[in-house]
Amino acid sequence: MVRDRARVLVIDDEEVVRDSCARILTGDGVVVEGAEDGLQGLKRFREFQPDLVLVDLKMPGKSGMEVLEELERADPDVIKIVITGYGSVSSAVDAMKRGAYDFVPKPFSPDEISLTVARGLEKRRLTSESNALRRGQERIRRNMISLVSHELSAPLSAAIQHLEVILAGMAGEISPESKELIGLCNGRLREMLALTRTWINLAVLDPIKMAERFEKVDLAEIARGSMERLRPLADRHGVDLKLVSPQPVSPIRGSQVPLGEVFHNLIGNGIKYNREGGWVQVRLFEQDAQVCVAVSDNGVGIEEVHLPRIFDEFYRADPRRSAPVKGSGLGLSIVKSLVEAHRGTIHVHSRFGEGTTFEIRFPRFSPSPGG
Ligand code: ADP
Repeated sequence: MVRDRARVLVIDDEEVVRDSCARILTGDGVVVEGAEDGLQGLKRFREFQPDLVLVDLKMPGKSGMEVLEELERADPDVIKIVITGYGSVSSAVDAMKRGAYDFVPKPFSPDEISLTVARGLEKRRLTSESNALRRGQERIRRNMISLVSHELSAPLSAAIQHLEVILAGMAGEISPESKELIGLCNGRLREMLALTRTWINLAVLDPIKMAERFEKVDLAEIARGSMERLRPLADRHGVDLKLVSPQPVSPIRGSQVPLGEVFHNLIGNGIKYNREGGWVQVRLFEQDAQVCVAVSDNGVGIEEVHLPRIFDEFYRADPRRSAPVKGSGLGLSIVKSLVEAHRGTIHVHSRFGEGTTFEIRFPRFSPSPGG
């Protein structure tokens, strides 16, 4: 919220404290209001919508600590500064743990209150600016998603449908040459549509919503399923697939479909960026209370300069249109987002010309979602 003058609410049962704060801070150009107890303070807070609240910790009735907690729940961005009795550092520390930004011990000098409040208001200004920036970015992202999903996907789907009608001969006879060319157009449009859908899935990925559907899952079973689906591709490329799991691994908390996509992308890359006679190996093991997955291949490898950017959206180590392997550069950024949504980490090790290993670590399953 942008205002000409910042607003400060002083909640203190001592009239002399409220008056002196008002005098000092009004002199600094701030609009000040006072409340004589916690209940009044919370009511004024809702009406006055201050940028900063000064709360006396020691008040009759509702305690300062309770007021602080309610303010924090109502608006964590509002700056809360507590006024403490002389020497009561431990209660100040306690207050900071509950959301207070700073404290001023009683009795305070005009300079002390003036400086502490100015610092708090500066923090408030910075937080508001960064929130506005984040909101702006989120708006751009949403516009982009809606642009891609409606303005690009819809005409692409329509064009594909029309081409299929022509290909099926339903719009009259076409020559074999035309049929071939239209078939090629159709194929390229389908690739574009698949790419826009992949991008939309990544853009709308919401880790909090995803976590609501988490259950106990077995990574070996998911890995096996992905391998079976990719076996025909591996056979076409002459690449051998193997799953190595010397001991059964603990389950993790997660969701089958997104984890299947993680394996699918990593194993798929291991096949695509490989040579005839190569292999892709998925190894499952446990270490330091974590369930680990290593997807390795002895394929073409990744040059060291590309490694830091390999998980960036649309990043490809070989971006040429004529690159031997076609792709969008979205696979690994999807993998990383999905792994992180499962509270996991992912790292890559690669030697150019020798092969690549992606190592993922997930926390072991525990009955409570936070554990
Ligand atoms: P895509 O495969 O669609 O290009 P990814 O995000 O899956 O996109 O991968 C990004 C880039 O990382 C790829 O273009 C490729 O250069 C490199 N890469 C990914 N996996 C491997 C791998 N197993 N071996 C060699 N290079 C890889």
